[in-house]
Amino acid sequence: MGEKARERAGGKAGTPAEAPTRREFLVGVSAAPVLACAASSEISGGSMPRRPVAIASANGLRATAKAIELVRSGHDPLDAAIAGVNIVEGDPNDISVGYGGLPNEDGVVELDAAVMHGPTHRCGAVAALRGIKYPSKVAKLVMERTDHVLLVGEGAQRFAVAHGFPIENLLTERARKIWLHWKETRSAIDDWLPPPPKEVDPEVRRFFGERVTGTIHCSVLDTKGDLAAVTTTSGLAFKIPGRVGDSPIIGAGLYVDNDIGAAGSTGRGEANLANCSCAMIVEWMGRGMHPMEACLEMLRRVAKHTKEKRLLRPDGRPNFQLVFYAVNKNGEYGAASMWKGRKFAVHDGSSNRLEDCAYLFE
Ligand code: ASP
Repeated sequence: MGEKARERAGGKAGTPAEAPTRREFLVGVSAAPVLACAASSEISGGSMPRRPVAIASANGLRATAKAIELVRSGHDPLDAAIAGVNIVEGDPNDISVGYGGLPNEDGVVELDAAVMHGPTHRCGAVAALRGIKYPSKVAKLVMERTDHVLLVGEGAQRFAVAHGFPIENLLTERARKIWLHWKETRSAIDDWLPPPPKEVDPEVRRFFGERVTGTIHCSVLDTKGDLAAVTTTSGLAFKIPGRVGDSPIIGAGLYVDNDIGAAGSTGRGEANLANCSCAMIVEWMGRGMHPMEACLEMLRRVAKHTKEKRLLRPDGRPNFQLVFYAVNKNGEYGAASMWKGRKFAVHDGSSNRLEDCAYLFE
C-alpha cells in the first residue's frame, strides 16, 4: 500500500483480527471522542439533529448537494439519495449512468441499480433493465411493492411499465457513435469497416484506448443518524448482453447496516462481486475501523485475491480500477481507490466538495 494512503487513513487503524468487536464499537460510539474529518463534531446527544453526510463517486457532486438539501428538510435518507442520483441518471452527458450511458455490445443500453434503506433494512434492485430512465426509482419500487429483492431483464421492465414508467430510447447519438466506432474497430476479419482515421469524430476518439467505466454511488447519513444508499449504472461499456455487474447486488455494489454505516463501490464489478466488498467494509467499520481504512483494507483483499494473469500487471498488481466509499453512523467518512488519482464527492453538512481518494497503489 502507498505510504500516503496509510497517512491519509490516519495511520494504522487496526486489522480485522485486532479490531474491537462490533459490540465494543457500538458502545464506543455513544461515548466516543470526536475524530478528525468527521461530521460528528456537531453530534449532540438525545434527539438533537446532527450534521448529515452524503458521500458519492466523483460524478455525484450534484447528488450529494441534493441529498443534503432533502434530508435537511426532513426527507427520508433513501429518498434523498435517490433524488440525488436521479440528476445523473437523467443526464445525457454522463456516459456511465442511465440515459446516455454506453450500451452493451449490441448497442442496447442495459441498466443496473440497487437501493438499501437502513432503518428498515429493506433493499431492492433491478439488473439488465432496458428502456427505463430512472432504474434507482424502479429498484425502490421492487423494495416497497414486491416481496422480492432483485428483478432482471424483461421482468424488471414489465414491472416498471406496470408502475407507469414509459419505455424510452436511452441511446443518445453520442453514445451510439462511440458504440459504432467500437463495433467497427473490433476485428479485421468481420464486415464492419471503420471510417478513415482522420474522419473519426474527436469526441468519439476521446473514449478509446481504455475501457470506459463509471457508475454513481451515493450513501447518506441523515440528521437523525439513519443511513441509506443507492448505486446505479449502465455497467461496463460494450458488455455481453445480460451481464449483471456489482452495482445491483446487495453486499457487493452497496450495503447498509443502520447501526454501523453504509458503503458503495464503482469500478470493475467482477472483482467486487467475487469479494462481497461492501458488506465486508461495513462489517469492518462495525469492528472499529475508520471508513477510509476499511475501504483500503478491502482493496488489499481484492488485490490479494486477484490471481488471473490477464488481470495483473507485470509487477503482480491488479490492472484495473476499483473505488470504495463509506460513511459510518458517527459521520466519519472515507473513500479509497486501487490506483491513485481518483476523487470522491462529499457533503459533510458544512460544504459540498470533491476530495482525493486514498489509494493502494501509485
Ligand atoms: N461497477 C460497474 C459495473 O461493473 C462499472 C463501473 O463502476 O465502472 O457494472
